[in-house]
Amino acid sequence: IVSIHGVHKRFGDFEVLRGVTFDVMKGDVVCVIGPSGSGKSTLLRCINALVPIDEGSIQVAGQEVHDPKLDKLALRKKVGMVFQQYNLFPHKTALQNVMMAPIQVLKQDKAEVRERALKLMKKVRLNGKEDAYPGELSGGQQQRVAIARSLAMNPDVMLFDEVTAALDPETVKEVLVTIRDLAEEGMTCMLVTHEMGFAREIADMMYFTDNGVIVESGPPKEFFANPRDARTKEFLGQIL
Ligand code: ATP
Ligand code: MG
Repeated sequence: IVSIHGVHKRFGDFEVLRGVTFDVMKGDVVCVIGPSGSGKSTLLRCINALVPIDEGSIQVAGQEVHDPKLDKLALRKKVGMVFQQYNLFPHKTALQNVMMAPIQVLKQDKAEVRERALKLMKKVRLNGKEDAYPGELSGGQQQRVAIARSLAMNPDVMLFDEVTAALDPETVKEVLVTIRDLAEEGMTCMLVTHEMGFAREIADMMYFTDNGVIVESGPPKEFFANPRDARTKEFLGQIL
């Protein structure tokens, strides 16, 4: 469903992505790990067309993401993205946050959106918190509202960029459980994460990036037990 081919991305003279190629199959969970600055966030942002690429191609559901003629709105509908910083609207309730994009961007019927938003709040296990304001919720709860908000657009793929990195340890797990629920329902997910135990548990494929290239990839069992590349070994050695 996502096809990345020979992608290069430069910021000025600095080449952040230096030829990245891989595919994500529908329903798969793909985890990307790698040192800070290796280009993980940039890669996700390229998939969502938040940043332009210099070379190569990225297709989502058969559509070229970086085709200038592409309807960006249509793409954003297909690809949901959740960041480390959840950026909810502080003066809107949790439910209003979830309802906003479908009503304002997609111009969908308010009653239908509300119904769906209520279901999504349940899905992220936040029923009862619909009327709470972000400031009244824990970090983990806010992040789950952010996930529900993204799901409200009914995406084909969800991108998660270190969504638990800013959370207290106690609330990390509830967010991971939400992602696992989604994955088990068949949502295609691409995660950048430092949660190695979680990655090992839910990933179909692991990718290790270093200096803008994918150094190693494989199913998690093999990837964690027998990393072949010296850089992967070193990285996993530091982190596990
Ligand atoms: P981290 O694990 O710290 O989140 P990352 O792998 O996600 O790292 P990126 O955020 O993709 O790394 O950044 C890769 C490199 O690109 C970094 O050196 C960063 O400084 C640079 N970079 C990212 N965005 C920009 C930008 N908008 N302008 C210039 N340089 C950028
Ligand atoms: Mg990053």
